Order: sequence, then structure tokens, then C-alpha cells
Amino acid sequence: MKKLFFQFASFLNVVHEPEETMAGLHGNTQGVGRDIVDYLTAVATHFTLTINVTSGYRGASDQAQAMLKYWLKLKRGKVYGKKDLPEVERKKLDAYFKTCKADPKAKLTERQEARRSFLKLAGEQLGNKSRHCSGRAVDVTQASVPAAAYRAITLKLKEVREGRGDIYHFESVATVPSVSADDKKSWDALSTSPLASSGSGGSTLVATAGDFPCTCTA
Ligand SMILES: [Zn+2]
Repeated sequence: MKKLFFQFASFLNVVHEPEETMAGLHGNTQGVGRDIVDYLTAVATHFTLTINVTSGYRGASDQAQAMLKYWLKLKRGKVYGKKDLPEVERKKLDAYFKTCKADPKAKLTERQEARRSFLKLAGEQLGNKSRHCSGRAVDVTQASVPAAAYRAITLKLKEVREGRGDIYHFESVATVPSVSADDKKSWDALSTSPLASSGSGGSTLVATAGDFPCTCTA
């Protein structure tokens, strides 16, 4: 009986062990730059967190699909700068969208054609402009990133704000250097006080005119 108890106890240990080693970066990070993955993994491990990636690499067609799906949320394309999406092209996309999604008189074949045209043009115009499409951006669940970890991440990665309360979009065009012992020391000194609701958590956060809305589908 005693033997059985110990066997059971050791079984429990085995079951519990993985929980203690769960800290890290979770989700699909295939196609995302190794340096970005390594940096986020180091932050997660340091703060003993499970950071959830909801969206990493996206090809041009994935981006176009997301645009079609979220066209109304994207204010019919008006969230994009005129340089990224000239007005003439935006109007074409909107016309395709209307035929495809909102024209009760359109025949099935017309709707299918409009859909194809939307995806083609959206892919050509904007498909490769998101940092996701070059593997230089990830979206992570905000709930998985407490204040200190957020501050550590934004020391090296830029957050592009899109007014969302569920995910953070982090990106870096430049290669993120490997984490040193000094980096980890500086992380320990980071405040755990909550982030300001205005979002002024660091100096690298302000979205600039060149930032590209990520059209996150998560
Ligand atoms: Zn994103």
C-alpha cells in the first residue's frame, strides 16, 4: 500500500513538473525573426510568464483575406495612409467589397469575381507592407504581458498602437540584439506598477505616420 502511495506521489510530481516549465513564448511563431522570438522568450522566462502569440507571420494573401474580413472595421480602408493606399485604389476595393458582401442583386458569379478582385488588389497594394508579412512583428495577448514584462519588451521592440484592448502589436525592423546579463539586471529594476491607461508606458511606443495598421484578425 505504502509503495503504491509513493508511486502515486511520484506520478503527481511528473504531472506537475511541466507546469513549472511552461514559461516561454506560446503560439505559432513560424516565420517570425529568430531574434524577436528569442527576445520575447527570454523576457517570458525571466518573468516566469507564458506569453501568448496570437498572430505572427502572415503572407500577402493572408493579409488580403484579413482586410476583406475586417474592411468595415478598417473604415473601408481609410485607416491606411494615402501613400500605402491611394484613394483611387481604395474606392475600387470598396466597390468590390460592396458587390461581394452588400449587393443583394449581385449574382453569385459576380460576387465571386468581386471577391477575387478585392483579394488581388488588396494583396498587390498592401499585402507586403505589414511587418507581419516580413516576419518582423507579433501580436501577443495583453493579459499574458504584465507591466514589467511590457516595459522589458518595449526596451527593444516597438509597439504600434491600434486602440485595441486585447492584443499588443510588437515589431522591430532592426535585428534585436541577444539578451545579456546586464539586460536582465535592468529588467529586474523595471517597475511593476500598472501601465498608464493613456498608454505612455515607454519612450518607443508612439505610433508614427509611417506605421502600418496591422489588420490583426486575432
Ligand atoms: Zn499586429
